[in-house]
Amino acid sequence: MPLIGAIADDFTGATDVAAMLVKGGMRTAQMIGVPDTADEVADLDAVVVSLKSRTAPVKDACRDSLAALAWLRHAECRQYFFKYCSTFDSTDRGNIGPVADALLAVLGAGFALACPAFPANGRSVYQGHLFVGSALLNESGMENHPLTPMRDANLVRVLSRQTTGSVGLVPYATVAEGAEAIGAAMQALEESGRRYAIVDAVSDRDLRAIGAAAAGHVLITGGSGVAMGLPENFRRAGLLAEEASTGELPALAGPAAILAGSCSPATLAQIEAAREFPCLRIDPRAPPDAEALAERALAWAVAHLGEEPVLIATSAPPGGVAAVQAALGREEAGRLVEQTLARIAEGLVSHGVRKLVVAGGETSGAVVARLGVRRLGIGAEIAPGVPWTLAEGGATPLLLALKSGNFGGPNFFRDAFAKLRGITEVAR
Ligand code: ADP
Repeated sequence: MPLIGAIADDFTGATDVAAMLVKGGMRTAQMIGVPDTADEVADLDAVVVSLKSRTAPVKDACRDSLAALAWLRHAECRQYFFKYCSTFDSTDRGNIGPVADALLAVLGAGFALACPAFPANGRSVYQGHLFVGSALLNESGMENHPLTPMRDANLVRVLSRQTTGSVGLVPYATVAEGAEAIGAAMQALEESGRRYAIVDAVSDRDLRAIGAAAAGHVLITGGSGVAMGLPENFRRAGLLAEEASTGELPALAGPAAILAGSCSPATLAQIEAAREFPCLRIDPRAPPDAEALAERALAWAVAHLGEEPVLIATSAPPGGVAAVQAALGREEAGRLVEQTLARIAEGLVSHGVRKLVVAGGETSGAVVARLGVRRLGIGAEIAPGVPWTLAEGGATPLLLALKSGNFGGPNFFRDAFAKLRGITEVAR
């Protein structure tokens, strides 16, 4: 039976936590949505159910999260994990607080830790304040996020506004003392009636100590970082094999492509740095019709498919996005771009593409849904939080890398295919 059952509030976040568990030696699969059947998961150490609940209405986010929990409980997981963004993406209404409240209530538990820290990607928590690199969350650019603007870096306050429970803090001085001290501090907070503890963490060592301290917790909430320490608990208990699972993927013959719908600074820089790949830029206004845009892009792609991956991007800097949104409306622009890229993905696969990188969380969701993917097997990591995966359930097996917009270094696209060559050679 799986040891860990995770519920992630978006698709790329689910891949992120799944990759972390694979690195910890757990055989892990990512499910797209709540499976409607009792999928075969008995041979897995961890299962991650990916939802699209981050910005959904609170009621829908709670309903979907509880459905995921019910499915994971049916699979008899021993510990549950609620994965949200390492920048704590949420509003005063939710959805982190209400979803965590609902999960705790059903699990009959009164307390959970909350820790979004992911030092490898520059996210750290100190005295309850979330930093992105050296900037406070509310000065990191996240204060301008279109859907979840983060204007307060104090997570005790942020979470307090979202939950009916009360929120305490395990400060860094305690975290630095190690697992025992962290465990005692969490227990004291629980006994004093707190429902949550924001736990400071600035390094992987802190995250491992927090993981060890939470061995007996039925629910853990956080970014993928805090999942780092969990596999070791099960290994210590004799429930997880010593040898690490390698996350090997099969070799799939066929051309490669990159689809970018993210307009984040990291993705824009990655597109600039991938000049050696044949590249098509799409202006969603010309014409504002998903079928027509996709048809033209596919005609271009078919002529360029070959040794090098083709790159197709709608990504634009803020001024370009504003112009498109002014012409089409914000929602319609997003919908049109997502439909266009999803249709292109479908066409590329029918033209033989078997290796696909998708940049953007919402974009990834649209592509994965259109391809009919039901399950992702997790393979080697390209950059922290972004693994190659084997997509199953669609028309044909596919190697897929889903990248959250802001993840990855400037050479991410080149790194992705270099990594794949390594995998392919090993698999051969
Ligand atoms: P990220 O992970 O960076 O947030 P997403 O894919 O989640 O990326 O979000 C990017 C959003 O921007 C998507 O809804 C996409 O449809 C939209 N978008 C992409 N290109 C454009 C464009 N040129 N004009 C307007 N909106 C765009």
